[in-house]
This record gives sequence, C-alpha cells and structure tokens, in this order.
Amino acid sequence: MLLKEYRMFIAAGILVLANIIWYVRNRRQQKKNAAAALPPNATQLLTENVRFYNKLSDKDKALFEARVKDFLAHTSIRGVEVEVDDLDRTLVASGAIMLIFAFPDWKYNNISEVLLYNDTFSRDFSTEDPERNVLGMVGDGAMHREMILSKKSLRESFKGPTDGENTAVHEFAHLLDKADGATDGVPEYLLQKDQLQPWTQLVHNTIRQMAQNGRSDIDLYGATNEAEFFAVVTEYFFERPEKLKESHPELYQMLEEMFHPPRS
Ligand SMILES: [Zn+2]
Repeated sequence: MLLKEYRMFIAAGILVLANIIWYVRNRRQQKKNAAAALPPNATQLLTENVRFYNKLSDKDKALFEARVKDFLAHTSIRGVEVEVDDLDRTLVASGAIMLIFAFPDWKYNNISEVLLYNDTFSRDFSTEDPERNVLGMVGDGAMHREMILSKKSLRESFKGPTDGENTAVHEFAHLLDKADGATDGVPEYLLQKDQLQPWTQLVHNTIRQMAQNGRSDIDLYGATNEAEFFAVVTEYFFERPEKLKESHPELYQMLEEMFHPPRS
C-alpha cells in the first residue's frame, strides 16, 4: 500500500514537473515569436515611412511585408543603451529587403543581429569618443554576422524628402558585396560574368573623376575605395534614381541591371 502511494506520489510529481517544463518552454517560444513577428501596425509604419514600399503594387506590398516578417524572424534587432521599437525594426528590415526584393528566394545568410546605437560611434564602438563619426558598420572577425547602425541616422534615412543617403541601405549593400567572400565593390551575385569587367572599369573611372574634381553629386566618401563606392551609389540608386539616371546614365543602367527593382 505504502509503495503504491509512493509510486503515485512520484507519478504526480513527474506530471507537475512536465507541466512546468512545458509551460516555461511555451512561454519562451511565445516571447521569441512575439519578438520575431511583424509589428501589428507594420502596414501603417511602411506606408508612412518607406517610399520604396509606397511605390509597389498591392500584390508587391503584400510580398514586401512577408519578406520583412521573414527577415525579422531570422535577425534580432537589439538596442545598445537605446530603446528599439516597432518602427526601428520595420526600417532596418525594409532597408534589407529593398535591395533583394527582385530576387524572391534571396535571404541574407551573413547576418544574425543588428545592433542599434543611439547616435554616431567610433571604429572601436565607443559612443563617447569626441571623434566618433561612424553611422553604420558591418562587423568582421568577432563581430562577424553583426551590423551596427546609428538609430538616429536610421530614422533620418527614411524621413522626409530624401537627400540620397540611407545608412541601412549602405550597410546592407556591403553585406551583398561581402556575400561572394570579398567586400571589394564587385557584388558577383548581382552581376553577369560579362558585366564584371565593365563594372570594374566604370567604378575606377568614376572614382578617378571624383578624386580629380574634388567634388561630385555622388557622396565623396564613395571615392574611398571600390567597396564604399558600391555602397554609396546603391544608396543613391535607391533614394534618388531619377537624379542618378540624369547625372550618371551608365552607372544607373548597370545598377538597374543588378537590382531591377519594380518601377511603378
Ligand atoms: Zn561603408
């Protein structure tokens, strides 16, 4: 009798324990899903803040939202001493998806986390260095699979009439460039084999012109090297396509062939 009661006691104990484990796991999963889910007001946030999204057809808008959701399910967006809200998460994901929207099966497989800093930071991630001037960065070495963005710059990139700059687009352009193994301004997955040489030639010629003139409608930071050139002109292409087409038709044409975004 005593043994039977003992057994029942053990069985009840196991049941309670199993329930607790299930409850904790379930809560964790729920929290994880909630963090990964598309913000409930995503449609409104996209409509109010993302020009690229607004130019899409209704069908493409639905596809864009699905891809933003998928991006957020695989990439955590975390604030470092700064709040991260639904708008920040929507903007980061939008910057990412804009670039690869023409490729339905593409995903970024070289990023796990985006860290948001309140404002500019220095190359050694200090937010107090008086010389800090970095708005965004794609990590290397220990920071592999990480991206850092200034929250202030992220917000400004999407606000109001564009100045042709977009920090999120800039950093995701670096990731696309990096996807073939070399961040060298030649995004091989976006180029046909016979375009590699003309692209490299065009990049070198334009950088040379920028350096010679000391001024350009292309951000002079793009003349730093080929990788920065690609990131800077990608911003320009997505933010002010008409102006780029007018000022640099050849460059515009090559970027159009790389990204072929839907044009309304
Ligand atoms: Zn850069």
